[in-house]
Amino acid sequence: MGFSSRGTPFYGMGSSLMIDVGPVLFAGRSMSLDERVEVPPYSSLTFPQPAHARLDLRRVDRGLDISGTIEVIAEASCDRCLDDVRVPVTVEVEERFDPRSGTIDPFSENNVLNGTALDVGDLVRQLVASALPYTITCTENCRGLCDTCGRSENDGGGCTCPPDPSTSSG
Ligand SMILES: [Zn+2]
Ligand SMILES: [Zn+2]
Repeated sequence: MGFSSRGTPFYGMGSSLMIDVGPVLFAGRSMSLDERVEVPPYSSLTFPQPAHARLDLRRVDRGLDISGTIEVIAEASCDRCLDDVRVPVTVEVEERFDPRSGTIDPFSENNVLNGTALDVGDLVRQLVASALPYTITCTENCRGLCDTCGRSENDGGGCTCPPDPSTSSG
């Protein structure tokens, strides 16, 4: 318990979705993507529906500018009371790739952009991973599980223990 693997990238997981961005980079044509991308389970989170990525690709100077939004629903257990929680995650995308200089390329190690082949699947999975909340609770003031009976102390959660004056919160 207590071990968290959140922060590990999705190397080699999920389907790839390759887009040739040559027309954007070389002809300056802009491109709009509207794609559904499967996102594999991540730590304690699962994604029952594919992420919905709406992205605009443009050439800026000599680089590739990707902007738009990615929407996905994450399912997890509340970190405190273990109830099922559905968390809508919206990622505002504003990414910049410069394939020629390679100076601004946070994803170079993962080969998201390889020549003119953009792996939209990897890009989406990495952006979703970076936007996931570190703690997931059913409500902001979830009271968690009772130390005495192990049931949820939230309203309707099952705990009926009297308040224990010796347990101070902190
Ligand atoms: Zn909770
Ligand atoms: Zn209790």
